[in-house]
Amino acid sequence: MNPAEWLARSAVLTPNAPALLLGTRVIADYADLARQAAAIAAGLAARGIRPGARVGVFMTNRPEYLPILYGIWFAGAVAVPVNAKLHPAELAWILENAEAEALFVSDDIAAGLAPPPCTRLIIATGSRDFAALAAHDPLPGPAPMGADDLVWLFYTSGTTGRPKGVGISAGNIIAAVLGYFTDVDAVHAKDATLYAAPMSHGAGLYNFMHVIRGARHVLPESGGFDAGEILTLAPRLGDVHLFAAPTMIRRLVAEAEVQGSNGDGIRSVIYGGGPMYLADIVHAVDVMGARFIQIYGQGESPMTITALPRDLVADRSHPDWQARLGSVGRAFSHMRVWIADAEGREVAPGQPGEILVQGPAVMPGYWRNPEAAAKALRGGWLWTGDIGVMDGAGFVTLHDRSKDVIISGGTNIYPREVEEALLTHPQVAEVAVVGRPHPDWGEEVVAFVISVAGTQPGPAVLDAHCLDRIARFKRPKDYVFLTELPKNNYGKVLKTALRAHWQQAG
Ligand code: AMP
Repeated sequence: MNPAEWLARSAVLTPNAPALLLGTRVIADYADLARQAAAIAAGLAARGIRPGARVGVFMTNRPEYLPILYGIWFAGAVAVPVNAKLHPAELAWILENAEAEALFVSDDIAAGLAPPPCTRLIIATGSRDFAALAAHDPLPGPAPMGADDLVWLFYTSGTTGRPKGVGISAGNIIAAVLGYFTDVDAVHAKDATLYAAPMSHGAGLYNFMHVIRGARHVLPESGGFDAGEILTLAPRLGDVHLFAAPTMIRRLVAEAEVQGSNGDGIRSVIYGGGPMYLADIVHAVDVMGARFIQIYGQGESPMTITALPRDLVADRSHPDWQARLGSVGRAFSHMRVWIADAEGREVAPGQPGEILVQGPAVMPGYWRNPEAAAKALRGGWLWTGDIGVMDGAGFVTLHDRSKDVIISGGTNIYPREVEEALLTHPQVAEVAVVGRPHPDWGEEVVAFVISVAGTQPGPAVLDAHCLDRIARFKRPKDYVFLTELPKNNYGKVLKTALRAHWQQAG
């Protein structure tokens, strides 16, 4: 089934319901949104874009984003959303890899962009060309699509190496959407989803549930994440859902404290995409209450591996509440998650291993990259590259990406555990722990620390703090104090860049 059918259905059922808002201003109802999408689709078809063709979307979070995505799907084509902060050379690489025939660019970033050579049709929003495209007579309905047809090519954020194009099929989207309704949260017609994180990633993937319910889609006027703006908008909109990376939640909570806000108007903050440290989520719930829900997923199983629902995030009555809050929750109801050794054998509960996943959200493969697909999809499982443990009740605690595990003296040390310990120190704002080559031990533990403004925790203080909390051999042998951690465009810490730190330093 073509996901554009969901938009067509809502447009019939609730044509006058507000669909797109810029801030609090309604700019399209469901009838308008569906008409715009169907007209863009007709324009694309008139320019030779056939079902299955790839169409790039290089846009900041703009009101045109959803009409364009749905226009692409109405036409039966495959959307290739690219993070608007990528370098033009990275964009060109992705477009070429995807063999994209067309590209939509938002007008704020179109001006300086040299046309990528491989793509014949480049359309900037706000241009006459775009207006002409959107002026076509709307297609009568979405092109038919089967469950295996691709809907979205999702280029992995690539903290190392070249990104790979994850092929997300219509069936994967349906599985992710139904899983959301079953295991994450309900959505109602009166709700609003606020696009504060890039729509090329998780936030964009979360549009579908809100289209199905005929709910509001809100673009913040800032076009991105602005904690003050979110806290001001939320009470005016009411029933707000948003997807946020853990770094955004830290900023949102800090701003809520400054404003004396408890997050009024925000119903659900779905977080994931990177580690949420225990101290941070405990504090977030203290300040804003039971509004947080965690998901763990990856492009290869979009947003859908495990979930930690709101009641478990907020409940402190269970004897294991801290361990559960530090976990990423339990497998989605329709997904099987298993912790395995290098040969793919299940390990005992509580033992670390690689997280493997099976179920309808798992990608069919990488775009034109069968070698990488054969590595990731083996024995009927998706090998996530994440290391974790599962307890007897099925709660999965993520340790680290397998490549980030530190092996010192033959013993595995999981950076996440050391990071969690350091973050409980009141003078530590952010931390990233990595392994540094060592002649005797193989690797030794080093912590990169951002201290809380106005404080200077010394290594001796942090060392004593760690000794109170974790095994002696796990504590950092060195501390490097930085003013900021290197992060990619989605806010993930680039541990590769940190490891390069001392290589450069000699
Ligand atoms: P991407 O494919 O770019 O979305 O990145 C997916 C990766 O982000 C996963 O394989 C995990 O390493 C990490 N990740 C996703 N969700 C979580 C989470 N809730 N907690 C910790 N790490 C996460």
